[in-house]
Amino acid sequence: MAILPLAPGETIGILGGGQLGRMLAQAAARLGFDVAILEPAPDAPAGRVAAHTVRGAYDEPRALEALAAVASLVTFEFENVPASAVAHLTAQDVEVAPNARALAVAQDRVEEKSFLNSIGVATVAFAAADSPEGAVAAMAQIGAPALMKTRREGYDGKGQRWVEHAAEAAAVFESLGGKPVILEAPADFVRELSVIAARGRDGELAIYPMAENHHENGVLRRSVAPAAVSPALAEQAERIAAQVLTGLDYIGVIGIELFELSDGRLLVNEIAPRVHNTGHWTMDGCEVDQFEQHIRAIAGWPLGPTAAIARVEMLNLLGDEVDAWLKYAGEPETRLHLYGKRDAKPGRKMGHVNRVSPLGPERR
Ligand code: AMP
Repeated sequence: MAILPLAPGETIGILGGGQLGRMLAQAAARLGFDVAILEPAPDAPAGRVAAHTVRGAYDEPRALEALAAVASLVTFEFENVPASAVAHLTAQDVEVAPNARALAVAQDRVEEKSFLNSIGVATVAFAAADSPEGAVAAMAQIGAPALMKTRREGYDGKGQRWVEHAAEAAAVFESLGGKPVILEAPADFVRELSVIAARGRDGELAIYPMAENHHENGVLRRSVAPAAVSPALAEQAERIAAQVLTGLDYIGVIGIELFELSDGRLLVNEIAPRVHNTGHWTMDGCEVDQFEQHIRAIAGWPLGPTAAIARVEMLNLLGDEVDAWLKYAGEPETRLHLYGKRDAKPGRKMGHVNRVSPLGPERR
Protein backbone atom coordinates (compact mmCIF):
# COMPACT_ATOMS: atom_id res chain seq x y z
CA MET A 1 0.00 0.00 0.00
CA ALA A 2 1.09 3.52 -0.73
CA ILE A 3 2.44 5.44 2.26
CA LEU A 4 0.48 8.68 2.47
CA PRO A 5 0.99 11.50 1.92
CA LEU A 6 2.80 10.19 -1.13
CA ALA A 7 6.22 11.84 -1.26
CA PRO A 8 7.71 13.49 -4.34
CA GLY A 9 9.89 10.96 -6.16
CA GLU A 10 7.26 8.22 -5.87
CA THR A 11 5.50 6.87 -8.96
CA ILE A 12 1.77 7.20 -9.69
CA GLY A 13 0.16 4.76 -12.13
CA ILE A 14 -2.49 5.93 -14.60
CA LEU A 15 -4.80 3.62 -16.55
CA GLY A 16 -5.31 5.24 -19.95
CA GLY A 17 -2.95 7.13 -22.21
CA GLY A 18 -5.16 9.82 -23.78
CA GLN A 19 -5.15 13.56 -23.26
CA LEU A 20 -6.57 13.38 -19.73
CA GLY A 21 -3.79 10.99 -18.74
CA ARG A 22 -1.27 13.30 -20.38
CA MET A 23 -2.45 16.39 -18.48
CA LEU A 24 -2.57 14.37 -15.23
CA ALA A 25 1.02 13.21 -15.89
CA GLN A 26 2.15 16.78 -16.54
CA ALA A 27 0.56 17.95 -13.27
CA ALA A 28 2.07 15.03 -11.36
CA ALA A 29 5.52 15.82 -12.77
CA ARG A 30 5.18 19.42 -11.57
CA LEU A 31 4.71 18.07 -8.03
CA GLY A 32 7.82 15.88 -8.34
CA PHE A 33 6.16 12.53 -9.06
CA ASP A 34 7.00 10.08 -11.80
CA VAL A 35 4.11 8.61 -13.77
CA ALA A 36 3.61 5.13 -15.24
CA ILE A 37 0.95 4.84 -17.95
CA LEU A 38 -0.86 1.61 -18.84
CA GLU A 39 -2.31 1.86 -22.34
CA PRO A 40 -3.04 -0.64 -25.13
CA ALA A 41 -2.33 1.69 -28.08
CA PRO A 42 1.19 2.55 -29.25
CA ASP A 43 2.46 6.13 -29.19
CA ALA A 44 -0.25 7.36 -26.79
CA PRO A 45 -0.35 11.08 -25.84
CA ALA A 46 0.24 10.37 -22.13
CA GLY A 47 2.99 7.82 -22.65
CA ARG A 48 5.11 10.42 -24.40
CA VAL A 49 5.29 12.60 -21.27
CA ALA A 50 5.56 9.81 -18.68
CA ALA A 51 8.58 8.15 -17.04
CA HIS A 52 7.24 4.64 -17.70
CA THR A 53 4.77 3.20 -20.18
CA VAL A 54 3.36 -0.31 -19.99
CA ARG A 55 1.67 -1.47 -23.17
CA GLY A 56 -1.19 -3.86 -22.66
CA ALA A 57 -4.92 -4.30 -22.24
CA TYR A 58 -6.47 -2.92 -19.06
CA ASP A 59 -7.60 -6.39 -18.01
CA GLU A 60 -4.33 -8.14 -18.85
CA PRO A 61 -2.84 -9.50 -15.60
CA ARG A 62 0.77 -9.25 -16.82
CA ALA A 63 0.36 -5.61 -17.80
CA LEU A 64 -1.28 -4.79 -14.46
CA GLU A 65 1.54 -6.58 -12.64
CA ALA A 66 4.12 -4.53 -14.57
CA LEU A 67 2.29 -1.37 -13.45
CA ALA A 68 2.13 -2.62 -9.86
CA ALA A 69 5.89 -3.25 -9.92
CA VAL A 70 6.53 0.51 -10.22
CA ALA A 71 3.44 2.19 -8.72
CA SER A 72 1.76 1.60 -5.36
CA LEU A 73 -1.02 4.09 -6.15
CA VAL A 74 -3.02 3.94 -9.37
CA THR A 75 -5.67 6.21 -10.84
CA PHE A 76 -7.43 6.34 -14.21
CA GLU A 77 -8.45 8.77 -16.94
CA PHE A 78 -11.65 7.02 -18.10
CA GLU A 79 -14.61 5.45 -16.32
CA ASN A 80 -14.83 2.17 -18.21
CA VAL A 81 -11.98 0.60 -16.28
CA PRO A 82 -12.83 -3.12 -15.92
CA ALA A 83 -13.70 -4.13 -12.36
CA SER A 84 -11.26 -7.05 -12.78
CA ALA A 85 -8.39 -4.58 -13.29
CA VAL A 86 -9.14 -2.84 -9.98
CA ALA A 87 -9.44 -6.21 -8.22
CA HIS A 88 -6.14 -7.43 -9.69
CA LEU A 89 -4.29 -4.26 -8.64
CA THR A 90 -5.84 -4.34 -5.17
CA ALA A 91 -4.78 -7.97 -4.76
CA GLN A 92 -1.20 -6.82 -5.35
CA ASP A 93 -1.42 -4.26 -2.57
CA VAL A 94 -1.88 -1.37 -4.99
CA GLU A 95 -4.45 1.23 -4.07
CA VAL A 96 -6.81 2.41 -6.80
CA ALA A 97 -8.37 5.86 -6.38
CA PRO A 98 -11.16 6.85 -6.96
CA ASN A 99 -12.64 3.64 -5.55
CA ALA A 100 -14.35 0.67 -7.23
CA ARG A 101 -17.76 1.79 -6.04
CA ALA A 102 -17.46 5.13 -7.87
CA LEU A 103 -16.50 3.24 -11.03
CA ALA A 104 -19.39 0.78 -10.71
CA VAL A 105 -21.89 3.60 -10.22
CA ALA A 106 -20.56 5.65 -13.14
CA GLN A 107 -20.40 2.68 -15.52
CA ASP A 108 -24.11 1.97 -15.49
CA ARG A 109 -26.69 4.71 -16.07
CA VAL A 110 -29.35 2.92 -14.02
CA GLU A 111 -27.00 2.37 -11.06
CA GLU A 112 -25.91 5.98 -11.37
CA LYS A 113 -29.39 7.51 -11.25
CA SER A 114 -30.52 5.06 -8.53
CA PHE A 115 -27.52 6.04 -6.41
CA LEU A 116 -28.13 9.76 -6.97
CA ASN A 117 -31.81 9.48 -6.03
CA SER A 118 -30.90 7.39 -2.96
CA ILE A 119 -28.77 10.24 -1.58
CA GLY A 120 -31.45 12.83 -2.35
CA VAL A 121 -29.97 14.19 -5.61
CA ALA A 122 -32.55 14.78 -8.35
CA THR A 123 -32.36 13.34 -11.87
CA VAL A 124 -34.88 12.99 -14.70
CA ALA A 125 -37.43 10.19 -14.23
CA PHE A 126 -36.11 6.92 -15.66
CA ALA A 127 -36.91 3.24 -16.19
CA ALA A 128 -34.72 0.28 -17.13
CA ALA A 129 -35.37 -2.28 -19.87
CA ASP A 130 -33.60 -5.50 -20.90
CA SER A 131 -35.80 -6.60 -23.81
CA PRO A 132 -38.04 -5.14 -26.57
CA GLU A 133 -41.14 -5.90 -24.43
CA GLY A 134 -39.42 -4.31 -21.44
CA ALA A 135 -38.74 -1.20 -23.55
CA VAL A 136 -42.44 -0.94 -24.39
CA ALA A 137 -43.35 -1.30 -20.70
CA ALA A 138 -40.72 1.30 -19.73
CA MET A 139 -42.20 3.72 -22.29
CA ALA A 140 -45.61 3.24 -20.73
CA GLN A 141 -44.07 4.27 -17.42
CA ILE A 142 -42.06 7.30 -18.67
CA GLY A 143 -44.33 8.51 -21.48
CA ALA A 144 -43.32 9.75 -24.95
CA PRO A 145 -41.03 11.26 -25.99
CA ALA A 146 -38.22 9.61 -24.04
CA LEU A 147 -34.49 9.24 -24.59
CA MET A 148 -33.28 5.65 -24.82
CA LYS A 149 -29.61 5.13 -23.92
CA THR A 150 -27.56 1.99 -23.51
CA ARG A 151 -26.96 1.47 -19.79
CA ARG A 152 -23.23 0.99 -20.28
CA GLU A 153 -20.48 2.38 -22.48
CA GLY A 154 -22.24 5.30 -24.13
CA TYR A 155 -20.20 8.48 -24.52
CA ASP A 156 -20.30 11.76 -26.46
CA GLY A 157 -23.98 11.18 -27.36
CA LYS A 158 -23.27 7.71 -28.83
CA GLY A 159 -25.60 4.81 -27.97
CA GLN A 160 -28.71 6.93 -27.50
CA ARG A 161 -31.85 7.77 -29.49
CA TRP A 162 -35.06 9.64 -28.92
CA VAL A 163 -38.24 7.56 -28.95
CA GLU A 164 -40.98 9.87 -30.22
CA HIS A 165 -43.87 7.38 -29.98
CA ALA A 166 -44.36 4.39 -27.70
CA ALA A 167 -44.87 2.18 -30.79
CA GLU A 168 -41.20 2.71 -31.80
CA ALA A 169 -39.75 1.55 -28.48
CA ALA A 170 -39.03 -2.06 -29.48
CA ALA A 171 -37.40 -1.05 -32.78
CA VAL A 172 -35.21 1.59 -31.13
CA PHE A 173 -34.20 -0.98 -28.51
CA GLU A 174 -33.02 -3.29 -31.31
CA SER A 175 -31.27 -0.43 -33.14
CA LEU A 176 -29.16 0.23 -30.04
CA GLY A 177 -27.86 -3.33 -30.21
CA GLY A 178 -30.46 -5.14 -28.09
CA LYS A 179 -28.43 -4.32 -24.96
CA PRO A 180 -29.90 -3.29 -21.59
CA VAL A 181 -31.08 0.32 -21.78
CA ILE A 182 -32.38 3.16 -19.71
CA LEU A 183 -35.34 5.28 -20.79
CA GLU A 184 -35.11 8.86 -19.61
CA ALA A 185 -37.79 11.54 -19.48
CA PRO A 186 -36.75 14.68 -21.38
CA ALA A 187 -34.96 17.28 -19.30
CA ASP A 188 -36.46 20.60 -20.30
CA PHE A 189 -33.25 22.45 -19.55
CA VAL A 190 -32.38 26.09 -20.14
CA ARG A 191 -28.63 25.49 -19.83
CA GLU A 192 -26.16 22.68 -19.41
CA LEU A 193 -23.76 23.33 -16.56
CA SER A 194 -21.14 21.26 -14.81
CA VAL A 195 -19.33 21.31 -11.53
CA ILE A 196 -15.85 19.93 -11.00
CA ALA A 197 -15.05 19.03 -7.42
CA ALA A 198 -12.55 17.07 -5.37
CA ARG A 199 -12.47 15.22 -2.08
CA GLY A 200 -9.24 14.62 -0.21
CA ARG A 201 -8.12 11.80 2.08
CA ASP A 202 -9.40 13.49 5.21
CA GLY A 203 -12.80 14.31 3.69
CA GLU A 204 -11.78 17.85 2.72
CA LEU A 205 -13.83 19.19 -0.22
CA ALA A 206 -12.73 21.56 -2.99
CA ILE A 207 -15.41 22.73 -5.41
CA TYR A 208 -14.75 24.85 -8.50
CA PRO A 209 -17.21 27.44 -9.84
CA MET A 210 -19.60 26.00 -12.41
CA ALA A 211 -18.96 25.97 -16.17
CA GLU A 212 -21.63 26.55 -18.81
CA ASN A 213 -21.28 23.99 -21.58
CA HIS A 214 -22.27 23.88 -25.24
CA HIS A 215 -22.29 20.63 -27.23
CA GLU A 216 -22.35 19.97 -30.98
CA ASN A 217 -23.32 16.53 -32.28
CA GLY A 218 -23.02 15.19 -28.74
CA VAL A 219 -19.43 16.45 -28.33
CA LEU A 220 -18.36 19.31 -26.06
CA ARG A 221 -17.57 22.33 -28.23
CA ARG A 222 -17.19 25.15 -25.76
CA SER A 223 -17.29 25.90 -22.03
CA VAL A 224 -17.49 29.28 -20.35
CA ALA A 225 -16.45 29.61 -16.74
CA PRO A 226 -17.21 30.78 -14.20
CA ALA A 227 -20.79 30.48 -15.45
CA ALA A 228 -22.98 33.49 -14.63
CA VAL A 229 -25.14 32.02 -11.86
CA SER A 230 -27.05 33.25 -8.83
CA PRO A 231 -25.65 32.51 -5.38
CA ALA A 232 -28.61 30.13 -4.85
CA LEU A 233 -27.73 28.12 -7.96
CA ALA A 234 -24.07 27.97 -6.95
CA GLU A 235 -25.07 26.73 -3.49
CA GLN A 236 -27.30 24.08 -5.03
CA ALA A 237 -24.40 22.80 -7.16
CA GLU A 238 -22.04 22.80 -4.20
CA ARG A 239 -24.56 20.83 -2.13
CA ILE A 240 -24.94 18.27 -4.93
CA ALA A 241 -21.16 17.92 -5.29
CA ALA A 242 -20.71 17.46 -1.55
CA GLN A 243 -23.49 14.84 -1.37
CA VAL A 244 -22.07 12.85 -4.30
CA LEU A 245 -18.48 12.97 -3.06
CA THR A 246 -19.29 11.97 0.50
CA GLY A 247 -21.92 9.44 -0.63
CA LEU A 248 -19.27 7.59 -2.65
CA ASP A 249 -16.52 8.02 -0.02
CA TYR A 250 -14.71 9.47 -3.00
CA ILE A 251 -11.02 10.40 -3.32
CA GLY A 252 -9.97 12.58 -6.27
CA VAL A 253 -11.63 14.85 -8.81
CA ILE A 254 -15.12 14.21 -10.15
CA GLY A 255 -17.04 15.88 -13.00
CA ILE A 256 -20.79 16.31 -12.51
CA GLU A 257 -22.91 17.26 -15.54
CA LEU A 258 -26.02 19.24 -14.69
CA PHE A 259 -29.22 20.41 -16.35
CA GLU A 260 -30.52 23.79 -15.21
CA LEU A 261 -34.32 23.86 -15.41
CA SER A 262 -36.38 27.01 -15.94
CA ASP A 263 -37.65 26.82 -12.33
CA GLY A 264 -34.06 27.10 -11.08
CA ARG A 265 -33.64 23.45 -10.09
CA LEU A 266 -30.55 21.47 -11.04
CA LEU A 267 -30.79 17.84 -12.15
CA VAL A 268 -27.71 15.65 -12.45
CA ASN A 269 -27.28 14.17 -15.92
CA GLU A 270 -24.07 12.22 -15.40
CA ILE A 271 -21.13 11.83 -13.11
CA ALA A 272 -17.62 11.15 -14.43
CA PRO A 273 -15.25 9.75 -11.77
CA ARG A 274 -12.24 11.51 -13.26
CA VAL A 275 -10.97 14.81 -14.54
CA HIS A 276 -13.38 16.20 -17.11
CA ASN A 277 -13.32 18.12 -20.38
CA THR A 278 -15.56 20.82 -18.87
CA GLY A 279 -12.84 21.39 -16.25
CA HIS A 280 -10.07 22.26 -18.72
CA TRP A 281 -10.77 25.94 -18.13
CA THR A 282 -9.23 25.57 -14.65
CA MET A 283 -5.77 25.23 -16.28
CA ASP A 284 -5.78 28.97 -16.93
CA GLY A 285 -8.68 30.15 -14.76
CA CYS A 286 -7.54 28.89 -11.36
CA GLU A 287 -4.34 28.74 -9.34
CA VAL A 288 -4.63 24.98 -8.91
CA ASP A 289 -6.23 23.23 -11.88
CA GLN A 290 -8.31 20.04 -11.88
CA PHE A 291 -5.33 17.88 -12.85
CA GLU A 292 -3.09 19.03 -9.99
CA GLN A 293 -6.11 18.88 -7.67
CA HIS A 294 -6.67 15.22 -8.57
CA ILE A 295 -3.02 14.35 -7.96
CA ARG A 296 -3.07 16.22 -4.64
CA ALA A 297 -6.25 14.41 -3.55
CA ILE A 298 -5.14 10.88 -4.37
CA ALA A 299 -1.64 11.50 -3.00
CA GLY A 300 -3.07 12.63 0.35
CA TRP A 301 -1.81 16.19 -0.03
CA PRO A 302 -3.80 19.24 1.07
CA LEU A 303 -6.23 20.38 -1.63
CA GLY A 304 -5.57 23.66 -3.44
CA PRO A 305 -7.70 26.77 -3.94
CA THR A 306 -10.58 26.59 -6.44
CA ALA A 307 -11.59 30.25 -6.80
CA ALA A 308 -11.50 31.62 -10.35
CA ILE A 309 -8.74 34.12 -11.01
CA ALA A 310 -9.89 34.79 -14.59
CA ARG A 311 -12.84 34.23 -16.89
CA VAL A 312 -12.14 31.51 -19.44
CA GLU A 313 -13.78 30.48 -22.68
CA MET A 314 -12.54 26.97 -23.46
CA LEU A 315 -12.80 25.74 -27.05
CA ASN A 316 -12.07 22.16 -28.02
CA LEU A 317 -9.93 21.81 -31.14
CA LEU A 318 -11.57 18.98 -33.07
CA GLY A 319 -9.97 17.25 -36.05
CA ASP A 320 -8.15 19.60 -38.42
CA GLU A 321 -9.08 22.68 -36.38
CA VAL A 322 -5.78 22.01 -34.66
CA ASP A 323 -4.02 23.13 -37.84
CA ALA A 324 -4.74 26.72 -36.71
CA TRP A 325 -2.21 26.32 -33.84
CA LEU A 326 -0.01 29.14 -35.11
CA LYS A 327 -2.94 31.58 -35.22
CA TYR A 328 -3.89 30.68 -31.63
CA ALA A 329 -0.27 30.91 -30.52
CA GLY A 330 -0.24 34.50 -31.82
CA GLU A 331 -3.28 35.61 -29.77
CA PRO A 332 -2.14 37.18 -26.50
CA GLU A 333 -5.32 36.18 -24.61
CA THR A 334 -5.23 32.56 -25.78
CA ARG A 335 -3.51 29.66 -24.00
CA LEU A 336 -2.92 26.70 -26.29
CA HIS A 337 -2.97 23.10 -25.01
CA LEU A 338 -2.13 20.43 -27.59
CA TYR A 339 -2.32 16.71 -26.93
CA GLY A 340 0.41 15.50 -29.27
CA LYS A 341 -1.92 13.24 -31.26
CA ARG A 342 -0.45 12.36 -34.65
CA ASP A 343 -3.63 11.76 -36.60
CA ALA A 344 -6.27 14.55 -36.81
CA LYS A 345 -9.29 12.36 -37.59
CA PRO A 346 -12.58 14.27 -38.01
CA GLY A 347 -14.13 15.11 -34.64
CA ARG A 348 -11.14 13.84 -32.64
CA LYS A 349 -10.14 15.97 -29.64
CA MET A 350 -6.68 17.22 -30.67
CA GLY A 351 -6.27 20.01 -28.14
CA HIS A 352 -8.07 22.94 -26.60
CA VAL A 353 -7.60 26.66 -26.19
CA ASN A 354 -8.45 28.73 -23.16
CA ARG A 355 -9.28 32.33 -23.99
CA VAL A 356 -8.66 34.29 -20.84
CA SER A 357 -10.23 37.60 -19.82
CA PRO A 358 -10.66 39.49 -16.54
CA LEU A 359 -13.37 38.29 -14.16
CA GLY A 360 -16.63 40.14 -14.68
CA PRO A 361 -19.82 40.39 -12.64
CA GLU A 362 -20.12 36.59 -12.48
CA ARG A 363 -17.47 36.71 -9.74
CA ARG A 364 -18.85 35.27 -6.55
P1 AMP B 1 -25.11 11.96 -22.03
O1 AMP B 1 -24.46 10.97 -22.94
O2 AMP B 1 -26.02 11.35 -21.04
O3 AMP B 1 -24.12 12.90 -21.40
O4 AMP B 1 -25.99 12.90 -22.98
C1 AMP B 1 -25.42 13.68 -24.00
C2 AMP B 1 -26.24 14.95 -24.21
O5 AMP B 1 -27.59 14.59 -24.59
C3 AMP B 1 -26.39 15.82 -22.99
O6 AMP B 1 -25.30 16.69 -22.85
C4 AMP B 1 -27.70 16.54 -23.29
O7 AMP B 1 -27.47 17.60 -24.21
C5 AMP B 1 -28.52 15.50 -23.99
N1 AMP B 1 -29.35 14.74 -23.03
C6 AMP B 1 -28.97 13.68 -22.30
N2 AMP B 1 -29.97 13.23 -21.52
C7 AMP B 1 -31.03 14.02 -21.76
C8 AMP B 1 -32.38 14.06 -21.27
N3 AMP B 1 -32.86 13.16 -20.38
N4 AMP B 1 -33.18 15.04 -21.74
C9 AMP B 1 -32.74 15.95 -22.64
N5 AMP B 1 -31.49 15.96 -23.15
C10 AMP B 1 -30.63 15.00 -22.72
